[in-house]
Amino acid sequence: MPTHWYNILADLPEPLPPPYDPDNGKRLELLKQVIPSEPLRLEFSNERFVKIPEEVLERYFQVGRPTPLIRAKRFEEYLNAPVKIYLKMEGYTYTGSHKINSALAWVYYALKDGAKFVTTETGAGQWGSAVALAAALFRVKAHVFMVRASYYAKPLRRYLMQMYGAEVHPSPSNLTEFGKKILSENPNHPGSLGIAITESAEYAQRYGGKYVVGSVINADIMFKTIAGLEAKKQLELIGEDPDVMIGVVGGGSNWGGAFYPFIGDELRSGKVRRRYIAVGALEVPKVTKGVYKYDDPDTGRVLPQLKMYTIGADFVPPPIYAGGLRYHAVAPTLSYLMYKGYVEGRDYDQETVFKMAQIFAQVEGYVPAPETAHTLPVIKEIADEARRTGERKVILVSFSGHGLLDLGNYADVLGFEKT
Ligand SMILES: *Cc1c(COP(=O)(O)O)cnc(C)c1O
Repeated sequence: MPTHWYNILADLPEPLPPPYDPDNGKRLELLKQVIPSEPLRLEFSNERFVKIPEEVLERYFQVGRPTPLIRAKRFEEYLNAPVKIYLKMEGYTYTGSHKINSALAWVYYALKDGAKFVTTETGAGQWGSAVALAAALFRVKAHVFMVRASYYAKPLRRYLMQMYGAEVHPSPSNLTEFGKKILSENPNHPGSLGIAITESAEYAQRYGGKYVVGSVINADIMFKTIAGLEAKKQLELIGEDPDVMIGVVGGGSNWGGAFYPFIGDELRSGKVRRRYIAVGALEVPKVTKGVYKYDDPDTGRVLPQLKMYTIGADFVPPPIYAGGLRYHAVAPTLSYLMYKGYVEGRDYDQETVFKMAQIFAQVEGYVPAPETAHTLPVIKEIADEARRTGERKVILVSFSGHGLLDLGNYADVLGFEKT
């Protein structure tokens, strides 16, 4: 197990554009009050390696780390091309995705600040369930503000959070001033991630809790590099050096967590020779059609603006099942790497992706999360290319999660009979 997290800021060729506060410091002030102090310090730190606290490392072991690196041999045979495909299996952790990698660190640092509880927002529930698990393992209460529409429509991850002892509130709620205001205007408001973020921050600020952030910012991605650092060691052990790296992007922490340790080495050496591919959903096309500019990270506009590829904080995505890919923007660090041309973008539509997920499940025996399945068409693209040119390629894929709680969504799109 790696003993340190990796910080890409140490190896970027120039400083990242800083956060911008259009409200004269008010947003930065809120951030200082509600976010645990050590992650906030790390957010602007240039230390290349940061020691993982013993208490976090020990819980990484407990929840299933290190996760296996699995060669997808049968999928290789199916593609019938000169490629080797290695999957870093983040679905092997207790809540079934990479999100626990940072949730444990956030909750640990919140407690070090003396927080009475932690708060966070969640859409479909992957991040919320990771925080609920982390809070359970550190014996502290988690209040999770869950987008109201998902609270009722997607109860399985809510049950998981409740199983871990978290309090899950449909957002907008009447627990905050912001929530009450919205409910007074529309008692049936379906909610949004932006509203849930604002409620989580307000609730933490008011009652002595800390608010924990699940993606996008540097500190969060740094905590998630445990996955990439493990993969690096695993590949060294078997003497492989990938040519192509593929991962999906919600806010960017899965992608950065898996690949920053690799691209960081290349940036430091002065030459990036591998291909890095970031994949999103066609229905939320920020990696292919986003604009690189300052934008709000939340629709409530209470957090400082960040320079990133965005399709706009007001963008309302169509109801797609890959809930983890619905975010409107790409993490500033990853956006910078895309802007500099080190990382390519791809988008695929839900129908194409789900059909390939079904093929993959039948060939490899593993049901990927709908988000994770967006990597499959790119793997096929690289395989087709390798078959044409005859050039052998080694591919590393961040396999961000399993789809066992998403089978209802697969049933909808693939047309299985439902009761
Ligand atoms: C949340 C999620 C993602 C997207 O994560 P980011 O770190 O926000 O980019 C990808 N895959 C799965 C399985 C997820 O749960």
